[in-house]
Amino acid sequence: MSECSSSSNSRRRMCGCGVAALHLTSRTEMNPRKRFFRCHQQELLLSSRAIIVINKLKRENDNDALLKERLGNRVEKLFLMFLGFIIGFVVSFMF
Ligand SMILES: [Zn+2]
Repeated sequence: MSECSSSSNSRRRMCGCGVAALHLTSRTEMNPRKRFFRCHQQELLLSSRAIIVINKLKRENDNDALLKERLGNRVEKLFLMFLGFIIGFVVSFMF
């Protein structure tokens, strides 16, 4: 998506889907200043799909963080219980 950064309406070309195509200029090192057309519809579709994917990843990441926090708390509690048990055991032997 970073290959295109400018558009102009100087020469309108229609895409096969019936929407005016975007006239873009490539800024890649391989094809500097090369003009090309891209479907506007596809661009919109791509960006909306990207948003969905990003939101999904965000949600998964949030769930993951929550799960890790819960798990961390549980492990901490278990560790403290275990530590208490060991201390109690040792103390009962000493006295
Ligand atoms: Zn199209």
